[in-house]
Amino acid sequence: MVSPIDIYSRDLESLLDSLQDIKPNEQDLITRAYYRAETAHEGQKRKSGEPYFTHCVAVASILADMNMDAETIAAGLLHDVAEDTDVSVDMLREEFGTTIALLVDGVTKLKNLPPIKNVSPSGDSRRTSTINREMEYIRKMLMTMGDDVRVVLVKLADRLHNMRTLGYMPEHKQKSIARETMDIFAPLANRLGIWQIKWELEDLSFRYLNNDAYRAIAKALDERRADRENYVANVRKKLITELDANGIENVNITARPKHIFSIYNKMTRKDLPLEQIYDIRGMRVIVNTLTECYMVLGIVHNLWRPIPGEFDDYVANPKDNFYRSLHTAVHDDAGKTVEVQIRTWEMHEDAEYGIAAHWRYKEGNRQHDKAFEQRVSYLRRLMEFGPEVNDATQFVDTVKSEVFQDRVYSVTPNGDIIDLPVGATPIDFAYHIHTDIGNRCRGAKINGRLVPLNYKLNMGDQVEILTSKRGGPSMDWLNPDLDYSVTTRARSKIRHWLRKQNRSKHIAMGRDALERELKRLGVIDKVTFESVAHLLGFDKLDDFLAAIGAGDVTGSQITNRVLEEERRKKAESVQEEDLLKPRSKSSGANTTTGVSIMGAGGLLVNLARCCSPMPGEEIIGYITRGRGVTVHRTDCPNMQSLKDTERLIDVSWGKADEEQRYIVPVEVVAYDREGLLREISTIIADQKVNISSVEVSTRQHIATLHLLLEIASNQQLTRILSKIDCIPSVVEARRRNPS
Ligand code: MN
Repeated sequence: MVSPIDIYSRDLESLLDSLQDIKPNEQDLITRAYYRAETAHEGQKRKSGEPYFTHCVAVASILADMNMDAETIAAGLLHDVAEDTDVSVDMLREEFGTTIALLVDGVTKLKNLPPIKNVSPSGDSRRTSTINREMEYIRKMLMTMGDDVRVVLVKLADRLHNMRTLGYMPEHKQKSIARETMDIFAPLANRLGIWQIKWELEDLSFRYLNNDAYRAIAKALDERRADRENYVANVRKKLITELDANGIENVNITARPKHIFSIYNKMTRKDLPLEQIYDIRGMRVIVNTLTECYMVLGIVHNLWRPIPGEFDDYVANPKDNFYRSLHTAVHDDAGKTVEVQIRTWEMHEDAEYGIAAHWRYKEGNRQHDKAFEQRVSYLRRLMEFGPEVNDATQFVDTVKSEVFQDRVYSVTPNGDIIDLPVGATPIDFAYHIHTDIGNRCRGAKINGRLVPLNYKLNMGDQVEILTSKRGGPSMDWLNPDLDYSVTTRARSKIRHWLRKQNRSKHIAMGRDALERELKRLGVIDKVTFESVAHLLGFDKLDDFLAAIGAGDVTGSQITNRVLEEERRKKAESVQEEDLLKPRSKSSGANTTTGVSIMGAGGLLVNLARCCSPMPGEEIIGYITRGRGVTVHRTDCPNMQSLKDTERLIDVSWGKADEEQRYIVPVEVVAYDREGLLREISTIIADQKVNISSVEVSTRQHIATLHLLLEIASNQQLTRILSKIDCIPSVVEARRRNPS
């Protein structure tokens, strides 16, 4: 298991030889770093008995194999000098410049883990101290890598070499180092897209964490090696013939390397025996152009029968660690499953080296830079959110289970970062911020644009949640076919809300609704809740409130009943007054508008179209030439700018005329869906209101409706608007303001 000498280490000459196109000044830098590190570590030994310096060269060699730039390789050679020798960071800065000093300093800082504090008898505090240590470490890593991601690349190379030589460590240390590697470093490499390192770290850790399983899988793979190679050779031949016939040349076809840990993962995840997993053949086809990728895909699908549902186009839709490839699976001639990955060389490098590809020697890959910038800004965000988390447990759990998995980061309008699993929607976002925001979520704007609530959040989206005062989550949100919510948090909160629609909530909601209704009617001081309950035939107030809250008693039922009662009372008192004095007949109200004009009766009265005043609103008259008086709302902008004030005249609403209708413009904004217009018009028709015109415009699934309604009263309008507001998918229903 352990090699007697460190086979990964190289001498200077072979290190330099492994770098293509290296410039003289870079060669000089690496040479100086090499000798500086060798002198500094002189006399130090590793656990294996070898000179310590071999480790430094091995780390540099790993970085060289990743084709990293000269500065990173030099930093790899020097990565341990500040920690373990007399050479200080300041000295490095003088000798090698700021960048190398910063890189070495960063790696050194990452190494200084806080010690595990005294372990108390209780298991809990032990967990806490382990967590604190991990938290501190991750935080440090995030901080340091924000400055220069290459720090983490050196650190990963360092860890990789230490894992390769872990056999020399005492057994108890092997396990804890392997655990740490599995928990922190392998996910980090994955996050950065460096698959090459990720796989190796995982396999090496797995070997120490679950040696039995590791050995069983390794042995099985070994036994089948000849088989597999034979098989690949056959498939290759067949495919190459076909590709040749189609003019696709210089294609690289290999068996996809099998990683032991990934096989183990597949076994546990899919609950399959080993035989079935390693029977799955993996092929990788690397071509020169994107067009060829799709051509190869067509040829593969032509040669063998594709397995439905197994095709993934990560070229059109890259994974969020920027991985690109075409994936498909086919049944081969013997009916066995073959998984095929198709990619260009460029994609291949990206996949193998991830973020490290940016510093690779080969120039001319400028189009990578955009993806690279995204990565860096992503890392910076990771770094920023770290210190704000107070709870250590939560922080480590977040980082370990979520940050390193497939996460999508979006921001609130205040710039707070919200991390959610890929596929999360604005609803998940809303519930993540606050349960109440989730419950009241009515719509969402992404980067200022209204989007459907099942919109899938993208990295970096700015999300603004639109809420309503009333209402709660819809049953639809739990419907898996509609993709409204993916997080368990959101789903459990929605379920909870729906379940809790019990009596006490209904009573509270009913009380609010009743109070609103009575205020609207202007009778809140004249009647008691109890008397209204009796009016509607309820003995107990709570029963009445619960019925309102549950929607069994509607606002209009209350309004009608209360108004009826008010009228009856008024009629009684008028009858009493009648006994004392004769009733005046001159109400002065205009019969077509319901407006009475102070001091100048008999004028022709129009209601202004710009602001469509309604009874109960403050109004003012404006004498127009030849057209009598036009009545505006006092807050109408057209009245504010008026200079000719002598043409203004006081007007007031006359006695309500039940026959009178007012044209009111209304705007409804909603997520477009089937049946929306029908539902809205049903609500309006139920109120016996006529719609005199409708205009609908739809843009990107957002429907805007402009309606002209023939409304009898302000109360009626409010009722209609609040009912429309409660229709699922309606974002807002409001009276259109004068413009
Ligand atoms: Mn080291």
